[in-house]
Amino acid sequence: MLINSNNITINKLKSKLLDDKGVSISMLRLDEIHPVVSGNKLFKLHYFLQEAMQHPGQPIITFGGAYSNHLSATAFAAKLLHIPGLGYVRGEKPPQLSHTLQQCMADNMQLHYLPRDIYRQMAEGGLTHKEGIIIPEGGYHPTGAKGAALIMDLLAEENATHICTAVGTATTLAGLLLGAAAHQKIIAIPVLKGMDDIEQRLEFLTGHHQYDNLEILRNYHFGGYAKKNRALIKFMNDFYEQHAVPTDFVYTAKMMYAVIDSIQNDHFIPGSHIVCVHTGGLQGNRSLPAGTLIF
Ligand SMILES: *Cc1c(COP(=O)(O)O)cnc(C)c1O
Repeated sequence: MLINSNNITINKLKSKLLDDKGVSISMLRLDEIHPVVSGNKLFKLHYFLQEAMQHPGQPIITFGGAYSNHLSATAFAAKLLHIPGLGYVRGEKPPQLSHTLQQCMADNMQLHYLPRDIYRQMAEGGLTHKEGIIIPEGGYHPTGAKGAALIMDLLAEENATHICTAVGTATTLAGLLLGAAAHQKIIAIPVLKGMDDIEQRLEFLTGHHQYDNLEILRNYHFGGYAKKNRALIKFMNDFYEQHAVPTDFVYTAKMMYAVIDSIQNDHFIPGSHIVCVHTGGLQGNRSLPAGTLIF
């Protein structure tokens, strides 16, 4: 990794439920890499950044909306490696910049705002490699999946029977599938409603669409991307109280809710050792009204 991953810990959770059901959960704390930058994003960027380092002077160019964790991770990584960063932002420049965009600017990323239709054209191949190292929106590319596969290196000594991740573009999921042993089950929790193209995405990202060790838990999107309800917020607070692990309402809370609910429903056989990848995203909680969360 070009990014220091020495401070990442693996936390074993303790609870009566886990004891009663005879299963264990550990959380891989990629959120500990950086308070703002989602850990999985840096892994997805790894090989793009490596390529950029081999072409000094060339900017890295990427795409995202005003709340894109990917855009902010790219800005952060580019600054760290002294590579010029250029970000195309979907939509007009808002009068009040989001925290994400403010952070991109603080990390010296040059931002260009594009009307949505032009953004679409650009993001879907409107640039040539002459202009720089192009990283697709969300890192959604086989190169991004290859980088995400490095996450599995951190779990070499963990003996996980199941590895869980929240799914947005499915690039992180693809990486886990690439890096997992055949006997390890990968559990995907889509955070978008009706995400029925995961297999096609995996085909693009890895060259395979059929994985016998993949399981998708489809019923934990809570109404769709960044949607939430009181049960989810209560879960986040209870989970923090019990385990002292903060989660974000867009990705990791939905994953943990799915895992705990599945354990309650005897979905995992006794003896299972479940590793949940905490992908970060905690800065997203800043959009919640003050006092919503206890952390
Ligand atoms: C982007 C993101 C994800 C989803 O990753 P994909 O590779 O796009 O599926 C999960 N968790 C967090 C915190 C993220 O920022």
